[in-house]
Amino acid sequence: MEKIDYSKRSFAYYPTQAIVTAKYEGGAWGKPEISADFNLNIHSFAGVLHYAPACFEGLKAFRGVDGTVRMFRPDENAKRLMNSAEYLDMAYPSEEMFIEMCAMCVRANWDCIPPYESGASLYLRPVLFGINPQLGIRNSDDVAFVVMSSPVGTYSGAQALKPGTAVLSRNYDRAATYGSGRFKLGANYAQSLHAYNLAHKMGYRELLFLDTATHSQIEEFGSSNFFAIKGGTYVTPDSCSILPSITNKSLRTIAADMGLKVETRRIPVEELAEMDEANSCGTAVVITPLCSIDDKPALESSEITRTYRFGDPNECGPVSRKLYNTMIGIQKGLLPDRYGWCMVVDKK
Ligand SMILES: *Cc1c(COP(=O)(O)O)cnc(C)c1O
Repeated sequence: MEKIDYSKRSFAYYPTQAIVTAKYEGGAWGKPEISADFNLNIHSFAGVLHYAPACFEGLKAFRGVDGTVRMFRPDENAKRLMNSAEYLDMAYPSEEMFIEMCAMCVRANWDCIPPYESGASLYLRPVLFGINPQLGIRNSDDVAFVVMSSPVGTYSGAQALKPGTAVLSRNYDRAATYGSGRFKLGANYAQSLHAYNLAHKMGYRELLFLDTATHSQIEEFGSSNFFAIKGGTYVTPDSCSILPSITNKSLRTIAADMGLKVETRRIPVEELAEMDEANSCGTAVVITPLCSIDDKPALESSEITRTYRFGDPNECGPVSRKLYNTMIGIQKGLLPDRYGWCMVVDKK
């Protein structure tokens, strides 16, 4: 394989050595298989191409300071995939099968795991989708589960913890109140891509969606959760249309142990004015600090109704930085894994 500079990796696709595939057909799972061919052979009438019965996960394997390779909380991803699949009325792998296939993928791509010093990691992308031919509208009986990987650095090449700008989405919604927002479905992304492109074209790093019923409460970003630091409190929104982020869940645990109060509750937009630090959080970069959030009547509009600002525009807030360092420290084996979050993968 050609030598790549892992320290310059973004979140763009980069080829690796192998993928791991298993199929559920006729009511039973087949054996997981490792393949160097990244093309999947699927029927043109496969449900996934028409009605989008598809869900996915995202997690990372890190090469630690001690050389050990660790996956971060794969059991949580397995459970979340199970919830998404149940919503789609599809079969899903057991937690054991999910974790084993992730470990197989890590081993099969061992030479693509970035070195510790690069700050990069091996991102794992498990996907589950309906494959049986169908025209009638119903759930898929047969499914494929594929685990693939790509070495990733910090999103969009930006340096870690560099503050970015965000905008509120007032004329595009992500997920309906009683819709699919709390499940990790590809369809939720299809729904938000256009709005995301608009926000990026307008120069914003992040797009913050509001509750669809009233547009008065903070929900989350297209692919990450929102949390803020207000005095000694970690605040994150509570809503049945937000995807339960494993990063957010982990940060709440760390925050509580740091002596912060943790609140999961409704957050009205105007409360942004009282926040000391505001962030997006997710597996890709753990934390993206926000220096400002613009409120506009429409994404396409050049008019700005109000701008909320947080801390120093060039620096991540001190509490968020401490949370970040603890999280990364656990993931990379710099700090003891006191919560038992890391799963070691041996080369074998
Ligand atoms: C995946 C995802 C997140 C982040 O979840 P993590 O488990 O922290 O990676 C947040 N919001 C949405 C909509 C997502 O799809």
